[in-house]
Amino acid sequence: MRRTATHEQVHAPIHTIVPPHIFKHLAGLPDEHWPGLADRALESMALAAEMRAERCAMAGVTALRETSAVGAQRTVFDAKHGFTLPGNVVRREGEASTGDETVDEAYDALGATYTYFSKVHKRDSIDGRGLRLDATVHYRRSFNNAFWNGRQMVFGDGDGEIFGRFTRSLDIIGHELTHGVTQYEAGLDYQDQSGALNEHMSDVFGSLVKQYSLKQTAKKADWLIGEGLWAPGIKGKALRSMKAPGTAYDDPRIGSDPQPAHMDDYVSTDDDNGGVHINSGIPNHAFYLAAVAFGGRAWVKAGAVWYHALTQTLRRDADFARAAAAIVDAAGAKFGKAGAVIVREAWKKVGIEVRTSTSRLPRAKKSPKRRVRPRGPRRANPLGAERGHRRAS
Ligand SMILES: [Zn+2]
Repeated sequence: MRRTATHEQVHAPIHTIVPPHIFKHLAGLPDEHWPGLADRALESMALAAEMRAERCAMAGVTALRETSAVGAQRTVFDAKHGFTLPGNVVRREGEASTGDETVDEAYDALGATYTYFSKVHKRDSIDGRGLRLDATVHYRRSFNNAFWNGRQMVFGDGDGEIFGRFTRSLDIIGHELTHGVTQYEAGLDYQDQSGALNEHMSDVFGSLVKQYSLKQTAKKADWLIGEGLWAPGIKGKALRSMKAPGTAYDDPRIGSDPQPAHMDDYVSTDDDNGGVHINSGIPNHAFYLAAVAFGGRAWVKAGAVWYHALTQTLRRDADFARAAAAIVDAAGAKFGKAGAVIVREAWKKVGIEVRTSTSRLPRAKKSPKRRVRPRGPRRANPLGAERGHRRAS
């Protein structure tokens, strides 16, 4: 573990499950065809902004800095449809099921995520030092989102028309908690390509939490993120697909999945922190390709390689090219030349060629050519050449 951030030092953004482009689409729907949907989406967008402000006011509310003696230390709270966090305690570690499926799903998902990181990566909770895992359910009324606020998980119940309850999807809970792991490790900046890598890491380990709990092979896994979140009647399997980015949903109410699977289709946008939930499709697909090429269970090799990079070598301002180089290096370190070849080939298939190891990569300007046509000054160089110097640590 490289970083020793305390809770006071960590300035993580609110990570919401529903990407902003979905609310944006909903907000543009004509009321005569879809009564109330646009209004509710605008309300959700306003609430997301409000939550960011609210997070500042939550400092000191939950005493998270407690080291567990052994194993997971879970607490589930009930907000009773209000917006005060964390709410009333409804289930503590080791207590029996409550009969409220939302409470019990949240409890089980926190446990499955803890178990995955503990058994597979020998990591004691999110911070590697036994951090308590807290979750609040029944947050607000018909709330169409769930989020990690840098301290705890918070789940809405969904409105039943667009989203069902947010505790249904294990990979999404693994995704959100991995934002916590990233916050303590590489600390990837939540903007542009480093932000898309932050999203990508959450999708990787979110999916692996689910695959591990189902004991699936890479070949058998569905590679979906957020399966089961859509309300009945919405044409969609999930929020994202790592196997086939861009195919997770297509419905007049929510639009269609905008994720690219290749650098040729890289999306330059100012929305969504520079498309962090969109361009993550590219590294996601590289991970999928590497996992299938390694064969067997994805967490054993591909997962070990990506975890090594996340916790040992990735810099907070990494772009795709430098992340790919670091991950190929990690594959070489863990599984030798054959491992590096598999991972290098996976990145090549999504349009990112790694020609040399990170240590010998002098400046990002020598990074591989890609067909990206950036717009706007912030993405004047999406490869991040001007940010090429290494972090001191
Ligand atoms: Zn996320």
